Amino acid sequence: MARYTDAVCRMCRREGAKLFLKGERCYSDKCSFTRRAYAPGQHGQGRKKVSEYGIQMREKQKARRYYGVLEGQFAGYYEEASRQPGMTGENLLRLCESRLDNIVYRLGLASSRAEARQLVVHGHYNVNGKRVDIPSYQVREGDVVAVNEKTRGSDKMKAIIETCGARPVPVWLDLNKETLEAKVVRMPNREDIDVDIQELLIVEYYSK
Ligand code: SF4
Repeated sequence: MARYTDAVCRMCRREGAKLFLKGERCYSDKCSFTRRAYAPGQHGQGRKKVSEYGIQMREKQKARRYYGVLEGQFAGYYEEASRQPGMTGENLLRLCESRLDNIVYRLGLASSRAEARQLVVHGHYNVNGKRVDIPSYQVREGDVVAVNEKTRGSDKMKAIIETCGARPVPVWLDLNKETLEAKVVRMPNREDIDVDIQELLIVEYYSK
């Protein structure tokens, strides 16, 4: 599958926000955005007038990059969100939050969403007792996500398990650090989703 392979910190600087794409580095003073909070490139520090469309497009890009979702799939999420009852923008963020790779990251069972995606693909996690290796898998209320018993002994997983709990786990997920299992207590509301994204701008972008 196609993936963005350029220096990921440029994406944060381009979007003017921390997207937390590099694991522990994002929480340290080595973070490129903390040190250079302006757009990359020769004219990154220059002032630019951005159109309304440009603002909406940037917000969509920010959300897409934050969750590591490609253009087509993100548009698909928007379509699905607009068919669901309730606020389209909130539905859209909930669909992104419900991805298995995001949940693994939120649980602290991976240092970044990119790492979570890779670990899911390699079969390190189960949902309701069955191995799931699809990062975009939609987890639902009541589902139980767990680290696969067979892979817990690998060096990679041991290192991850050691740091599990360093970040706060959202209230809609109930993690048992002993068993490395987590139940999805409920699906998140907008207040539970701590992302600096104005979803209304994304709805406006797709509504044109
Ligand atoms: Fe973004 Fe993390 Fe890089 Fe900081 S360290 S610029 S938050 S990817």
